Amino acid sequence: MNPKPYGVNELREMFLSFFESKGHLRLPSFSLIPQNDQSLLLINSGMAPMKPYFTGEVEPPRHRVCTCQKCIRTGDIENIGKTARHGTYFEMLGNFSFGDYFKREAITWSWEFLTKVVGLDENRLYPSIYENDDEAFEIWNKEVGVPAERIFRFGKSDNFWEHGSGPCGPCSEIYYDRGEKYGCGKEGCTVGCDCDRYMASSTTTATATTPSWPRRTLTPAWAWSGWRWSARM
Ligand SMILES: [Zn+2]
Repeated sequence: MNPKPYGVNELREMFLSFFESKGHLRLPSFSLIPQNDQSLLLINSGMAPMKPYFTGEVEPPRHRVCTCQKCIRTGDIENIGKTARHGTYFEMLGNFSFGDYFKREAITWSWEFLTKVVGLDENRLYPSIYENDDEAFEIWNKEVGVPAERIFRFGKSDNFWEHGSGPCGPCSEIYYDRGEKYGCGKEGCTVGCDCDRYMASSTTTATATTPSWPRRTLTPAWAWSGWRWSARM
């Protein structure tokens, strides 16, 4: 069963309202031009403008915020035009915790949003975790109730979030299986394959999520989730 085909404006509002209902302050998008940050030419993720809040240099207006951030693809710009899911310009939806909630809430809310609000079929969703992140495994398995064989463990290139210097850490993603007809047909095509079947980002009818919870010593615990939706024209 396919989910209801929401438009991008509806999905954006559904996301921001959902996280407002979980105590987040909705902030407007930051500028595409980084402010007081010499390390980036352009803002390329929802998390990038939040760095001073994460490191503790600046006190955030609230310890839970959500945004829809304007972004330009930079790091993997070579992928534009080769796949259906890499756009030059995109919006990244994000919910952020600055020393407030951590993995448990980031995971359970992302699942709640996708299955209860957007209405995705949970039998098509597959979480992935960093290879030795047993804490995340327990939350997915015991609290959310995802069977162990549906939880994929990946290495550093897939499930460890880092961005130059500064905050980094293991992350979790949720893949959506778009169906066999989108697969590459190769033996071993499964969650994590580069083809267009299992998407960690997807169309206006489906969703993309990248809940992550990097840790850094300056703050006791913080979490963020980036959500990317790409519209297929
Ligand atoms: Zn494949």
